[in-house]
Amino acid sequence: MSQRVTESVFLRGEYKSREKASAKALILGGDEFGIRIAELLRRDGVPSTLLIPPGETIPKDSGIEIIQGSILSSSGFIGNFDVCIQESNDRYISRFWFIVAAQPAFRASKNHLFSLADSDKVWSLSAFRKHLDSGGKLPERKGPWLHVAFFFDLKVSSEISQSEELLSILDRLEMFDQVQSYVFVNNLKVSSEGLDAWYRDHRRRGVVFFKFDCDDPQISLRNKEPVIEFVEPLLKEEMELTPDLMVLDEILGPSPSIRPILEMIPSWLASVPYLQPESTRFNGVETQKAGVFAVGPARGVFDQRSLKADVDAVRVSILKALPELSSLIIKETAFVDRNKCTFCLTCVRLCPHGAIGFDVRPEVDPISCKSCGVCVVECPMAAIEMRPANAVMIEERKPAPLKLFVCSHSGLQAASKINSEFLTDVEIIPLPCAGSLSPIMMLGALQEGVKGIIVAGCFKGNCASIYGSALAESRVAQMVQTLQSVGMDKVKIEFVYLAGNTPDRIVEAITRMQK
Ligand code: SF4
Ligand code: SF4
Repeated sequence: MSQRVTESVFLRGEYKSREKASAKALILGGDEFGIRIAELLRRDGVPSTLLIPPGETIPKDSGIEIIQGSILSSSGFIGNFDVCIQESNDRYISRFWFIVAAQPAFRASKNHLFSLADSDKVWSLSAFRKHLDSGGKLPERKGPWLHVAFFFDLKVSSEISQSEELLSILDRLEMFDQVQSYVFVNNLKVSSEGLDAWYRDHRRRGVVFFKFDCDDPQISLRNKEPVIEFVEPLLKEEMELTPDLMVLDEILGPSPSIRPILEMIPSWLASVPYLQPESTRFNGVETQKAGVFAVGPARGVFDQRSLKADVDAVRVSILKALPELSSLIIKETAFVDRNKCTFCLTCVRLCPHGAIGFDVRPEVDPISCKSCGVCVVECPMAAIEMRPANAVMIEERKPAPLKLFVCSHSGLQAASKINSEFLTDVEIIPLPCAGSLSPIMMLGALQEGVKGIIVAGCFKGNCASIYGSALAESRVAQMVQTLQSVGMDKVKIEFVYLAGNTPDRIVEAITRMQK
């Protein structure tokens, strides 16, 4: 049976009990797929409990501990999650180190966004895939050719797994005679291995892709038949298509049964649940809450190759975290001074990594903390201190007329690619995240009489702290405004978005400042 703890343990400060708890994962749903993950984790020394929602079939003879029940609440941090479970009439709290969501994502239809209703001519992507899987027929055609229109990533963004689903359906349609497919798309995400070539292959073989940036195609009904009216994006000509069949992708969301788990993930992510934003900074199965993962069907991934990749990715993430959790290596991290804290909870709301909990007072979980510094700058009471990294770097610097504050994830790499002679007049100050740049750091530079300040952070959508870069940009804008209002507008201050491979953005900013 799973390790059960009492309500009083649940309410006590959780972090200290890390040493005593044994590594254990809670796998939410996923049936056979969930069992596969549990078996692999068991071999790695991480026993698991599989939780199957009421009403769903329980896999037999797996040798894995299986509970049929629902989650009522959850709290805590990686290595120490307390999950309140309702199993028949029994209600108890179990402690887990990791939580892996594996049950299929909830799919909501996009039909209403285009004023369409389901019919034999209007299908959702997943329903049409299942229809073809089960050997279903295509609808009647009006002429010699069957015209199939796909609506993809329009109105609401789609995930990369849905791109794979679309391309595999296009493959199947090629097996039928005289079928012409059209894809009306905003952004077909094809950054995963092999997807781009697969997509280009379909273009070569005659699938027509219409790409829309803004003016979405319009759908109306004529004699109960859907008619698509649109301005052809390249030719800019008005066009009309009356397809024999329409297939729309769906909005992917988390299964309602895991709501209590999602509530531990920072609330600003509510619109994208546990699905990671498109960013090279994240392992796709990791959520923004350390220790909580979404794998395979839970994030809309269904093909065997990607399922295997997800299982490997979650194992690697868990195995990487184990030594840190077992040996209680405490990194330098954000620290709340309780004498200054007024319990405004700004830090709890803003921490991009869900690393600050609140139980009587704010507590930073040292392992979940990614040292981004966002909370330090945003705390209105200056009650949070950060590791001394910034201070040390500033003390060791050689003052120069231009100061370049760079995010260590991107800007530092970019700056290292610039010829050092070009940087003679530039002092480079690395930051753990651009979000840790404070107005005081900029004022300190001004006091030293610098001619210009450049702040470089990761491109939006690629920031490891999600909005660390955007916060830095707005702080720079505020500083510029403040200086202008007091007539100190001679010093140039500029924010640049960049990536490790775009050093030219720094070079351009420095050149602008030196003019
Ligand atoms: S932001 Fe500062 S004052 Fe507000 S709860 Fe956090 S530590 Fe306390
Ligand atoms: S430094 Fe960043 S990750 Fe750490 S507690 Fe503060 S906001 Fe969260």
